[in-house]
Amino acid sequence: MDKKKLKEVEKKLLEKKKGLLKEATGRESKREYSKSEVKDFGDSASEAYEDVLLHGLGEHERLLLQKVENALRRVGDGSYGQCHRCRKDISKGRLKAVPWALYCIQCRENMEQESGIV
Ligand SMILES: [Zn+2]
Repeated sequence: MDKKKLKEVEKKLLEKKKGLLKEATGRESKREYSKSEVKDFGDSASEAYEDVLLHGLGEHERLLLQKVENALRRVGDGSYGQCHRCRKDISKGRLKAVPWALYCIQCRENMEQESGIV
């Protein structure tokens, strides 16, 4: 994958991450958190950050955030776009639809069958 494409992907992933965090903090600030406690996200896993993620996001969103962060790491180390399981390239169409996809469609399907979650 060329650098320009990777930059685009990275931007998309960061936006997704920001959106998820915003949702989490938005919900949390309605509860007991003051904005100043949670404004400093960055890359640091501060306690406030962990807390917001724990309480502000549902399980599904938290998993999604993990995937997004994982994908961002993979953009960084150059393994982005490669299936985590079979090491083949994940199809472009799939990456476009799911930029944080860790597995190619084939592996995804196999795993779903194996785990019984279909
Ligand atoms: Zn695969």
